[in-house]
Amino acid sequence: MTTPQLTEEQASVYVENQGMAGRFDGKVVFLTGAGSAIGIGRATALAFAREGARIAAVDVTTDDLAETVELVRATGAEAEAFQADVSKSAEVDRAVAAATERFGEIHILVSNAGIAKKKEFVALTDEEWRGTIDVNLGGAMHCARAVAPQMISRGSGRIISLSSLMGGWWGWSEHVHYNASKAGIEGLTRGLAMELGPHGVTVNAVAPGFVRTAQSMSVEHSLGPEGLALAEPFIPLRRIGDPEDIAEVVLFLASDASRYMTGQTLLADGGVTLGDLSSVFTQPG
Ligand code: NAD
Repeated sequence: MTTPQLTEEQASVYVENQGMAGRFDGKVVFLTGAGSAIGIGRATALAFAREGARIAAVDVTTDDLAETVELVRATGAEAEAFQADVSKSAEVDRAVAAATERFGEIHILVSNAGIAKKKEFVALTDEEWRGTIDVNLGGAMHCARAVAPQMISRGSGRIISLSSLMGGWWGWSEHVHYNASKAGIEGLTRGLAMELGPHGVTVNAVAPGFVRTAQSMSVEHSLGPEGLALAEPFIPLRRIGDPEDIAEVVLFLASDASRYMTGQTLLADGGVTLGDLSSVFTQPG
C-alpha cells in the first residue's frame, strides 16, 4: 500500500489549527465507519485529531481503515485501527475492550457506520431488512451498550450516532429499511439519553442531508453524481454537503459547548427540508 498523503485542504486545516488549544486534548474517540476514503467517518477522525483527540478507528474494511489511521497519525495525533462488523455484538465488544486496553478509556462514541441498499419494499427479503437494521441501528446499540458501563462509572461521556434526513424528516422510496433504521437511531437516542443523563452522559444524533460520499455517490443504491447535481437547486445553501460539514456538527455534540443538550437530533441539511421550490416555481410573494 502506498503511503497516503493529506490533501492540500486537509493539510491547510491542520496547519491553520496548530497552536489552538485542542477542545479534545487527550480524549479518546471510538469512531465506527472510519474506513471510507471519502466518507463522514474519515473526515470526523481528522477533525477530532486536529483538536487533540486520540482515535480508535473502527470499520469492517481494513485497507481504507489503515489509511485513515495513517492520515490521522500524519497530523501528529494518536490512532489505532480496530476491525469489527458493528452488526455483530461480540465483535463490537472485542473492539471496545481492545480500544480501552490500548488507550485506557473511551470518552466519546461516534456510531457512524451505516449502509444504504436500494430495494423495492415488496421484494425486500428478511435478510435484507435485517442486514440494514442490524448495521445501522444494531451497530449503534451494540457500541453504546459496550461503552456505557465505563462512561457510567466515570460519570461522564458523549454518545453520538449518525441518523439521516431520512430518519425523522423524509421518506425514501425503495429504502424503507434505511428509513426505519434511521428513525430507530432517533428513538435509541432519546431513550438512552433518559437512562444515561443521570450519570453525566449525553446522547445525541446528527442527521445529515445530502453529503458527497461513497454512499450518496452510489448509482446503484443512492442518488449517484447526477442525482446529487439535480438535488442542488432545491438546497437553499446551493451545494451538496461535504463530509467535513457533518464532522463539525459531531464535534459540537462531543464538545463542552453542547453540555446541556441530550436526546436531540441535529439536522445538517443545507436547508433542503425548508422546501425550496424556487427552481421549479415562482413562489407567491
Ligand atoms: P460511507 O459509505 O462513505 O461510509 C460508511 C462506512 O461504514 C464505510 O467505511 C463502511 O465500510 C462502514 N461500514 C459499513 N458497514 C459496516 C459494518 N457492518 N461494520 C463496520 N463498519 C461498517 O457512508 P457515509 O456517507 O460517510 O455515511 C456515514 C453515516 O452517515 C452513515 O450512517 C450514513 O447512513 C449517514 N448518512 C449519510 C448521508 C450522505 O448523504 N452521505 C446522509 C445521511 C446520513
